[in-house]
Amino acid sequence: MAEETVFSKILKGDIPCEEVYRDNECLAFRDVQPQAPVHILVIPQKSIPSLREAETKDKKLLGHLLLVASTIANKEGLDSWRTVINTGASAGQTVFHLHVHIIGGRSLSWPPG
Ligand code: AMP
Repeated sequence: MAEETVFSKILKGDIPCEEVYRDNECLAFRDVQPQAPVHILVIPQKSIPSLREAETKDKKLLGHLLLVASTIANKEGLDSWRTVINTGASAGQTVFHLHVHIIGGRSLSWPPG
């Protein structure tokens, strides 16, 4: 069975979140420690620890997460934004339930740290 994470607890309703979107496949909510004026996370309902564990059968779901991210960014009024998927601790992943960050509302430098 998949490990419980803060995000699986949010999905079950055991931890509250500031929800911005939900459907049968995903949930989006505001990051509790925003790194920009808009910082939203899109997570699958299905428990996948990281992009590393995603499989071919998740192809539609992965596409859905990106399209939902784009719809949300547009609804938030962003004309530029960054989508980030941290994979592995050295890349900054702290919650091992796949998630797409939507970060925007300020200018963002490149390359990232
Ligand atoms: P990552 O570092 O890519 O794994 O991203 C995890 C993100 O989850 C971080 O930006 C955290 O601020 C955010 N986070 C952790 N706990 C919560 C929570 N309870 N509600 C909303 N965001 C959270």
